[in-house]
Amino acid sequence: MKMFRQSDRLRNVRYDVRGPILTEAMRLEREGHDVLRLNLGNMRPFGLEARPEIVDAVAANLGSAQAYSDSRGVHLAREAVADHYRRCDIGQVSADDIFLGNGVSELITLTLQALVNPGDEILVPAPDYPTWTGAVNLTGGVPVHYLADESHGWNPSVADIESKVTPRTTALVMINPNNPTGAVYSEETVRGIADIARRHGLILLSDEIYEELVFGDARHHHAARAAGDDVLCLTFGGLSKAYRVCGYRAGWVVATGPLHRASDLLEGLTLLSNMRVCPNVAGQHAIPLALYAGTPGSPLPADIVDPGGLLEKQLALTSDALNAIPGVSCVPPRGALYCFPRIDREIFGIDNDEEFVLDLLRSEHILVTHGTGFNWPEPDHFRIVCLPETTVLERAVASIGGYLERRRSLNGRELLGRV
Ligand code: PLP
Repeated sequence: MKMFRQSDRLRNVRYDVRGPILTEAMRLEREGHDVLRLNLGNMRPFGLEARPEIVDAVAANLGSAQAYSDSRGVHLAREAVADHYRRCDIGQVSADDIFLGNGVSELITLTLQALVNPGDEILVPAPDYPTWTGAVNLTGGVPVHYLADESHGWNPSVADIESKVTPRTTALVMINPNNPTGAVYSEETVRGIADIARRHGLILLSDEIYEELVFGDARHHHAARAAGDDVLCLTFGGLSKAYRVCGYRAGWVVATGPLHRASDLLEGLTLLSNMRVCPNVAGQHAIPLALYAGTPGSPLPADIVDPGGLLEKQLALTSDALNAIPGVSCVPPRGALYCFPRIDREIFGIDNDEEFVLDLLRSEHILVTHGTGFNWPEPDHFRIVCLPETTVLERAVASIGGYLERRRSLNGRELLGRV
Protein backbone atom coordinates (compact mmCIF):
# COMPACT_ATOMS: atom_id res chain seq x y z
CA MET A 1 0.00 0.00 0.00
CA LYS A 2 1.38 3.43 -0.94
CA MET A 3 2.10 5.60 2.12
CA PHE A 4 1.96 9.38 1.80
CA ARG A 5 4.98 10.91 3.46
CA GLN A 6 6.22 14.36 4.40
CA SER A 7 9.12 15.72 2.37
CA ASP A 8 12.69 14.84 3.34
CA ARG A 9 13.31 18.55 3.93
CA LEU A 10 11.12 18.33 7.04
CA ARG A 11 13.14 15.55 8.68
CA ASN A 12 15.30 17.99 10.67
CA VAL A 13 12.58 20.55 11.33
CA ARG A 14 11.21 20.71 14.88
CA TYR A 15 8.97 23.07 16.80
CA ASP A 16 8.60 21.47 20.22
CA VAL A 17 6.88 24.48 21.83
CA ARG A 18 3.75 23.04 20.24
CA GLY A 19 5.03 19.47 19.89
CA PRO A 20 4.18 16.06 21.40
CA ILE A 21 4.00 17.44 24.95
CA LEU A 22 1.14 19.73 23.94
CA THR A 23 -0.64 16.73 22.39
CA GLU A 24 -0.37 14.93 25.74
CA ALA A 25 -1.65 18.06 27.56
CA MET A 26 -4.67 18.13 25.26
CA ARG A 27 -5.32 14.43 25.98
CA LEU A 28 -5.26 15.17 29.72
CA GLU A 29 -7.64 18.10 29.19
CA ARG A 30 -10.04 15.84 27.26
CA GLU A 31 -9.97 13.50 30.27
CA GLY A 32 -11.21 16.44 32.36
CA HIS A 33 -7.96 17.63 33.97
CA ASP A 34 -7.19 21.34 34.28
CA VAL A 35 -3.76 21.84 32.72
CA LEU A 36 -1.89 25.07 33.48
CA ARG A 37 -0.37 25.90 30.12
CA LEU A 38 2.95 27.65 30.66
CA ASN A 39 4.32 26.79 27.23
CA LEU A 40 3.34 29.77 25.04
CA GLY A 41 3.90 33.53 25.21
CA ASN A 42 0.23 34.12 24.44
CA MET A 43 -1.16 37.02 26.49
CA ARG A 44 -4.93 36.95 26.29
CA PRO A 45 -5.54 33.54 27.90
CA PHE A 46 -3.93 35.10 31.02
CA GLY A 47 -6.21 38.16 30.95
CA LEU A 48 -3.58 40.48 29.43
CA GLU A 49 -5.47 42.34 26.72
CA ALA A 50 -4.46 44.94 24.13
CA ARG A 51 -5.38 48.59 24.52
CA PRO A 52 -8.97 48.83 23.19
CA GLU A 53 -7.90 51.51 20.66
CA ILE A 54 -5.84 48.90 18.83
CA VAL A 55 -8.80 46.54 18.56
CA ASP A 56 -11.03 49.44 17.45
CA ALA A 57 -8.57 50.40 14.68
CA VAL A 58 -8.84 46.91 13.22
CA ALA A 59 -12.64 46.83 13.58
CA ALA A 60 -12.97 50.23 11.88
CA ASN A 61 -11.03 48.96 8.85
CA LEU A 62 -12.67 45.57 8.40
CA GLY A 63 -14.62 46.83 5.37
CA SER A 64 -11.60 47.96 3.36
CA ALA A 65 -9.61 44.96 4.60
CA GLN A 66 -11.68 42.70 2.35
CA ALA A 67 -9.30 43.48 -0.51
CA TYR A 68 -5.74 42.25 -1.01
CA SER A 69 -3.11 44.83 -0.09
CA ASP A 70 0.29 45.54 -1.66
CA SER A 71 2.21 42.26 -1.28
CA ARG A 72 4.64 43.96 1.13
CA GLY A 73 1.69 45.22 3.21
CA VAL A 74 -0.50 48.31 3.59
CA HIS A 75 1.53 51.46 2.88
CA LEU A 76 0.31 53.37 5.97
CA ALA A 77 1.37 50.52 8.23
CA ARG A 78 4.81 50.33 6.58
CA GLU A 79 5.17 54.11 7.01
CA ALA A 80 4.38 53.70 10.71
CA VAL A 81 7.05 51.00 11.06
CA ALA A 82 9.59 53.21 9.22
CA ASP A 83 8.73 56.10 11.54
CA HIS A 84 9.15 53.87 14.58
CA TYR A 85 12.72 52.97 13.59
CA ARG A 86 13.58 56.55 12.60
CA ARG A 87 12.50 57.60 16.11
CA CYS A 88 14.89 54.95 17.46
CA ASP A 89 17.69 56.81 15.67
CA ILE A 90 18.50 54.07 13.24
CA GLY A 91 18.97 56.51 10.38
CA GLN A 92 17.53 56.15 6.89
CA VAL A 93 14.52 53.82 6.97
CA SER A 94 12.03 53.83 4.12
CA ALA A 95 8.62 52.17 3.86
CA ASP A 96 9.92 50.64 0.60
CA ASP A 97 12.43 48.57 2.56
CA ILE A 98 9.82 47.11 4.90
CA PHE A 99 7.92 43.86 4.38
CA LEU A 100 4.92 43.09 6.57
CA GLY A 101 4.04 39.48 7.29
CA ASN A 102 1.75 37.14 9.16
CA GLY A 103 3.83 37.53 12.28
CA VAL A 104 7.61 37.38 12.52
CA SER A 105 7.26 33.60 12.10
CA GLU A 106 6.24 33.87 8.45
CA LEU A 107 8.95 36.45 7.75
CA ILE A 108 11.70 34.27 9.23
CA THR A 109 10.80 31.47 6.82
CA LEU A 110 10.33 33.86 3.90
CA THR A 111 13.64 35.66 4.48
CA LEU A 112 15.66 32.48 4.88
CA GLN A 113 14.06 31.01 1.74
CA ALA A 114 15.12 34.15 -0.12
CA LEU A 115 18.66 34.13 1.30
CA VAL A 116 20.00 30.64 1.94
CA ASN A 117 21.45 28.15 -0.54
CA PRO A 118 21.85 24.47 0.39
CA GLY A 119 25.04 24.10 2.45
CA ASP A 120 25.19 27.76 3.51
CA GLU A 121 25.94 28.10 7.19
CA ILE A 122 23.82 30.37 9.37
CA LEU A 123 24.98 31.21 12.88
CA VAL A 124 22.09 30.75 15.31
CA PRO A 125 22.15 31.13 19.11
CA ALA A 126 21.72 28.16 21.43
CA PRO A 127 19.27 28.29 23.03
CA ASP A 128 17.17 29.87 20.27
CA TYR A 129 13.56 30.49 19.39
CA PRO A 130 13.26 27.20 17.47
CA THR A 131 11.62 28.62 14.35
CA TRP A 132 15.08 29.97 13.46
CA THR A 133 16.85 26.60 13.48
CA GLY A 134 13.83 24.90 11.89
CA ALA A 135 13.58 27.47 9.10
CA VAL A 136 17.31 27.21 8.30
CA ASN A 137 16.98 23.41 8.06
CA LEU A 138 13.98 23.83 5.77
CA THR A 139 16.12 25.74 3.26
CA GLY A 140 18.82 23.05 3.17
CA GLY A 141 21.17 25.44 4.96
CA VAL A 142 23.13 24.41 8.04
CA PRO A 143 22.37 26.01 11.41
CA VAL A 144 25.64 26.43 13.31
CA HIS A 145 24.86 27.09 16.97
CA TYR A 146 26.86 29.51 19.09
CA LEU A 147 26.40 29.31 22.84
CA ALA A 148 24.78 31.85 25.09
CA ASP A 149 26.73 31.95 28.34
CA GLU A 150 24.58 31.33 31.42
CA SER A 151 27.34 32.58 33.72
CA HIS A 152 27.29 35.97 31.92
CA GLY A 153 23.57 36.62 32.17
CA TRP A 154 23.07 34.49 29.03
CA ASN A 155 24.98 37.01 26.86
CA PRO A 156 26.68 35.14 24.02
CA SER A 157 30.46 35.14 23.86
CA VAL A 158 31.50 37.24 20.88
CA ALA A 159 34.75 35.22 20.61
CA ASP A 160 32.75 31.95 20.42
CA ILE A 161 30.61 33.38 17.62
CA GLU A 162 33.63 34.50 15.63
CA SER A 163 35.37 31.13 16.07
CA LYS A 164 32.42 29.52 14.25
CA VAL A 165 32.57 31.69 11.13
CA THR A 166 33.71 29.73 8.05
CA PRO A 167 33.87 30.60 4.33
CA ARG A 168 30.33 29.11 4.04
CA THR A 169 28.83 31.40 6.68
CA THR A 170 26.29 33.80 5.17
CA ALA A 171 24.33 35.27 8.06
CA LEU A 172 24.30 35.70 11.81
CA VAL A 173 21.08 35.50 13.82
CA MET A 174 20.66 37.31 17.12
CA ILE A 175 17.57 37.28 19.34
CA ASN A 176 17.52 40.26 21.68
CA PRO A 177 15.75 40.47 24.12
CA ASN A 178 16.01 36.75 24.15
CA ASN A 179 13.49 33.95 24.15
CA PRO A 180 13.91 31.62 26.03
CA THR A 181 16.57 33.07 28.39
CA GLY A 182 15.17 36.56 29.11
CA ALA A 183 18.61 38.08 28.43
CA VAL A 184 18.86 41.66 27.20
CA TYR A 185 22.23 42.07 25.51
CA SER A 186 24.58 44.80 26.62
CA GLU A 187 25.54 47.52 24.12
CA GLU A 188 29.02 45.99 24.02
CA THR A 189 27.61 42.57 23.01
CA VAL A 190 25.38 44.08 20.30
CA ARG A 191 28.32 46.09 18.92
CA GLY A 192 30.59 43.05 19.13
CA ILE A 193 28.13 40.94 17.13
CA ALA A 194 27.67 43.70 14.52
CA ASP A 195 31.47 43.96 14.21
CA ILE A 196 31.73 40.23 13.45
CA ALA A 197 29.19 40.71 10.65
CA ARG A 198 31.23 43.69 9.42
CA ARG A 199 34.58 41.85 9.48
CA HIS A 200 33.25 38.77 7.68
CA GLY A 201 30.71 40.33 5.31
CA LEU A 202 27.74 38.58 6.97
CA ILE A 203 24.10 39.65 6.99
CA LEU A 204 22.80 40.38 10.46
CA LEU A 205 19.33 38.91 11.15
CA SER A 206 18.08 40.50 14.36
CA ASP A 207 14.89 39.22 15.99
CA GLU A 208 13.73 42.08 18.25
CA ILE A 209 10.10 41.10 18.80
CA TYR A 210 10.55 41.73 22.56
CA GLU A 211 12.18 45.15 22.07
CA GLU A 212 9.74 46.95 24.41
CA LEU A 213 9.71 44.19 27.03
CA VAL A 214 12.79 45.18 29.03
CA PHE A 215 12.67 45.66 32.76
CA GLY A 216 14.56 47.36 35.60
CA ASP A 217 17.75 49.03 34.42
CA ALA A 218 17.99 46.92 31.24
CA ARG A 219 18.11 48.83 27.94
CA HIS A 220 17.44 47.49 24.49
CA HIS A 221 20.07 48.24 21.83
CA HIS A 222 19.02 47.93 18.20
CA ALA A 223 21.33 45.83 16.05
CA ALA A 224 20.57 48.08 13.07
CA ARG A 225 22.11 51.02 14.89
CA ALA A 226 25.33 49.13 15.59
CA ALA A 227 25.29 47.81 12.01
CA GLY A 228 25.23 51.37 10.63
CA ASP A 229 25.66 52.05 6.92
CA ASP A 230 28.03 49.24 6.07
CA VAL A 231 26.43 46.06 7.51
CA LEU A 232 23.25 44.73 5.95
CA CYS A 233 20.80 44.24 8.81
CA LEU A 234 17.33 42.75 8.69
CA THR A 235 15.41 43.60 11.86
CA PHE A 236 12.31 41.57 12.76
CA GLY A 237 9.55 42.99 14.96
CA GLY A 238 5.82 43.00 15.42
CA LEU A 239 2.77 43.47 17.60
CA SER A 240 2.54 39.98 19.09
CA LYS A 241 4.20 40.59 22.44
CA ALA A 242 4.26 44.10 23.94
CA TYR A 243 1.09 45.11 22.07
CA ARG A 244 -0.63 41.80 22.93
CA VAL A 245 -2.30 41.06 19.62
CA CYS A 246 -0.45 37.93 18.53
CA GLY A 247 -3.65 36.63 16.93
CA TYR A 248 -3.66 39.56 14.48
CA ARG A 249 -0.42 38.19 12.98
CA ALA A 250 1.10 41.64 12.45
CA GLY A 251 4.88 41.47 12.01
CA TRP A 252 7.56 43.14 9.90
CA VAL A 253 11.10 42.89 8.64
CA VAL A 254 13.08 46.06 7.96
CA ALA A 255 16.20 46.22 5.79
CA THR A 256 18.90 48.77 6.68
CA GLY A 257 22.54 49.32 5.78
CA PRO A 258 24.16 49.09 2.32
CA LEU A 259 20.91 48.44 0.43
CA HIS A 260 22.56 49.25 -2.92
CA ARG A 261 24.40 45.92 -2.48
CA ALA A 262 21.22 44.07 -1.49
CA SER A 263 18.96 44.75 -4.47
CA ASP A 264 19.08 41.12 -5.67
CA LEU A 265 18.18 39.77 -2.22
CA LEU A 266 15.36 42.32 -1.81
CA GLU A 267 14.08 41.33 -5.26
CA GLY A 268 13.98 37.72 -3.99
CA LEU A 269 12.06 38.79 -0.90
CA THR A 270 9.64 40.73 -3.09
CA LEU A 271 9.12 37.66 -5.30
CA LEU A 272 8.27 35.49 -2.26
CA SER A 273 6.02 38.25 -0.89
CA ASN A 274 4.21 38.37 -4.21
CA MET A 275 3.75 34.60 -4.15
CA ARG A 276 2.02 34.73 -0.77
CA VAL A 277 -0.07 37.59 -2.26
CA CYS A 278 -0.16 39.70 0.94
CA PRO A 279 -0.28 39.37 4.71
CA ASN A 280 -3.62 39.31 6.52
CA VAL A 281 -4.88 42.83 5.82
CA ALA A 282 -7.16 43.35 8.84
CA GLY A 283 -4.33 42.78 11.33
CA GLN A 284 -2.11 45.32 9.57
CA HIS A 285 -4.49 48.12 10.53
CA ALA A 286 -3.43 47.69 14.16
CA ILE A 287 0.12 48.76 13.31
CA PRO A 288 -0.17 52.56 12.80
CA LEU A 289 -2.18 53.01 15.96
CA ALA A 290 0.05 50.76 18.05
CA LEU A 291 3.29 52.38 16.92
CA TYR A 292 2.46 56.09 17.01
CA ALA A 293 3.76 57.13 20.39
CA GLY A 294 1.94 60.18 21.61
CA THR A 295 -1.42 59.15 20.15
CA PRO A 296 -3.91 59.43 23.00
CA GLY A 297 -4.55 56.04 24.52
CA SER A 298 -1.61 54.36 22.82
CA PRO A 299 0.85 52.78 22.56
CA LEU A 300 1.81 50.33 25.33
CA PRO A 301 -0.14 48.89 28.26
CA ALA A 302 0.80 50.67 31.51
CA ASP A 303 1.79 47.46 33.27
CA ILE A 304 4.63 47.12 30.79
CA VAL A 305 5.98 50.66 30.79
CA ASP A 306 5.49 51.44 34.49
CA PRO A 307 8.60 50.76 36.55
CA GLY A 308 7.96 47.73 38.72
CA GLY A 309 4.96 46.86 36.53
CA LEU A 310 3.10 43.58 36.52
CA LEU A 311 5.31 41.63 34.11
CA GLU A 312 8.50 42.73 35.81
CA LYS A 313 7.10 41.55 39.15
CA GLN A 314 5.97 38.22 37.74
CA LEU A 315 9.36 37.48 36.19
CA ALA A 316 11.18 38.37 39.43
CA LEU A 317 8.78 36.34 41.55
CA THR A 318 9.17 33.28 39.31
CA SER A 319 12.95 33.37 39.16
CA ASP A 320 13.21 33.96 42.96
CA ALA A 321 10.88 31.03 43.66
CA LEU A 322 12.78 28.78 41.25
CA ASN A 323 16.11 29.74 42.82
CA ALA A 324 14.72 28.71 46.23
CA ILE A 325 14.30 25.09 45.04
CA PRO A 326 17.40 23.04 45.93
CA GLY A 327 19.04 21.79 42.72
CA VAL A 328 17.48 24.53 40.55
CA SER A 329 19.11 27.82 39.50
CA CYS A 330 17.69 30.57 37.34
CA VAL A 331 19.40 33.63 35.87
CA PRO A 332 16.91 36.45 36.60
CA PRO A 333 15.41 37.49 33.25
CA ARG A 334 15.76 41.18 32.29
CA GLY A 335 13.35 41.08 29.37
CA ALA A 336 10.72 39.07 27.44
CA LEU A 337 8.26 36.76 29.23
CA TYR A 338 10.14 33.66 30.32
CA CYS A 339 12.41 32.03 32.86
CA PHE A 340 14.88 29.38 31.68
CA PRO A 341 16.02 27.60 34.84
CA ARG A 342 18.76 24.99 35.11
CA ILE A 343 17.92 21.70 36.80
CA ASP A 344 20.63 19.50 38.27
CA ARG A 345 20.58 16.30 36.22
CA GLU A 346 22.49 14.27 38.82
CA ILE A 347 20.28 15.26 41.73
CA PHE A 348 17.02 14.67 39.87
CA GLY A 349 18.14 11.77 37.66
CA ILE A 350 17.32 13.43 34.33
CA ASP A 351 18.68 11.89 31.12
CA ASN A 352 16.02 13.14 28.76
CA ASP A 353 14.43 16.54 29.38
CA GLU A 354 11.45 15.83 27.12
CA GLU A 355 10.58 12.84 29.30
CA PHE A 356 11.12 15.05 32.35
CA VAL A 357 8.57 17.68 31.25
CA LEU A 358 6.15 14.94 30.18
CA ASP A 359 6.37 13.34 33.61
CA LEU A 360 5.93 16.77 35.27
CA LEU A 361 2.86 17.34 33.11
CA ARG A 362 1.27 14.00 34.03
CA SER A 363 2.09 14.44 37.70
CA GLU A 364 1.27 18.17 38.26
CA HIS A 365 -0.76 19.10 35.18
CA ILE A 366 1.68 21.93 34.43
CA LEU A 367 2.87 22.33 30.85
CA VAL A 368 6.37 23.76 30.36
CA THR A 369 8.85 23.27 27.50
CA HIS A 370 12.09 21.27 27.68
CA GLY A 371 15.35 23.14 27.00
CA THR A 372 16.50 20.90 24.14
CA GLY A 373 13.33 22.05 22.34
CA PHE A 374 15.19 25.40 22.07
CA ASN A 375 18.28 23.67 20.70
CA TRP A 376 20.08 23.85 24.04
CA PRO A 377 22.64 21.01 23.87
CA GLU A 378 22.15 19.52 27.36
CA PRO A 379 18.92 18.08 28.83
CA ASP A 380 19.19 20.30 31.91
CA HIS A 381 16.87 23.31 31.39
CA PHE A 382 13.22 24.06 30.87
CA ARG A 383 11.30 27.19 29.93
CA ILE A 384 8.38 28.49 31.93
CA VAL A 385 6.08 31.30 30.74
CA CYS A 386 5.60 33.94 33.47
CA LEU A 387 2.25 35.37 32.35
CA PRO A 388 -0.26 34.09 34.95
CA GLU A 389 -1.10 36.27 37.92
CA THR A 390 1.25 36.03 40.88
CA THR A 391 -0.79 33.62 43.04
CA VAL A 392 -1.08 31.17 40.15
CA LEU A 393 2.64 31.45 39.41
CA GLU A 394 3.49 30.92 43.08
CA ARG A 395 1.36 27.78 43.20
CA ALA A 396 2.80 26.50 39.93
CA VAL A 397 6.41 26.89 41.07
CA ALA A 398 5.53 25.32 44.45
CA SER A 399 4.08 22.30 42.60
CA ILE A 400 7.20 22.03 40.44
CA GLY A 401 9.30 22.23 43.63
CA GLY A 402 7.23 19.47 45.29
CA TYR A 403 7.52 17.27 42.22
CA LEU A 404 11.29 17.80 42.05
CA GLU A 405 11.66 17.01 45.75
CA ARG A 406 9.87 13.66 45.26
CA ARG A 407 12.02 12.99 42.22
CA ARG A 408 15.14 13.81 44.19
CA SER A 409 14.42 11.38 47.00
CA LEU A 410 13.41 8.65 44.55
CA ASN A 411 16.63 9.21 42.59
CA GLY A 412 18.65 9.20 45.83
CA ARG A 413 17.22 5.77 46.70
CA GLU A 414 17.94 4.48 43.19
CA LEU A 415 21.52 5.75 43.36
CA LEU A 416 21.95 4.04 46.75
CA GLY A 417 20.47 0.83 45.31
CA ARG A 418 23.10 0.84 42.58
CA VAL A 419 26.03 1.12 45.05
N1 PLP B 1 10.59 35.49 17.54
C1 PLP B 1 10.66 35.19 18.84
C2 PLP B 1 11.97 35.35 19.55
C3 PLP B 1 9.52 34.75 19.52
O1 PLP B 1 9.61 34.44 20.81
C4 PLP B 1 8.30 34.61 18.82
C5 PLP B 1 7.08 34.12 19.50
O2 PLP B 1 7.07 33.70 20.63
C6 PLP B 1 8.28 34.92 17.47
C7 PLP B 1 9.44 35.37 16.85
C8 PLP B 1 7.03 34.78 16.65
O3 PLP B 1 6.26 35.91 16.72
P1 PLP B 1 5.01 36.19 15.78
O4 PLP B 1 3.79 36.05 16.62
O5 PLP B 1 5.22 37.60 15.30
O6 PLP B 1 5.05 35.20 14.67
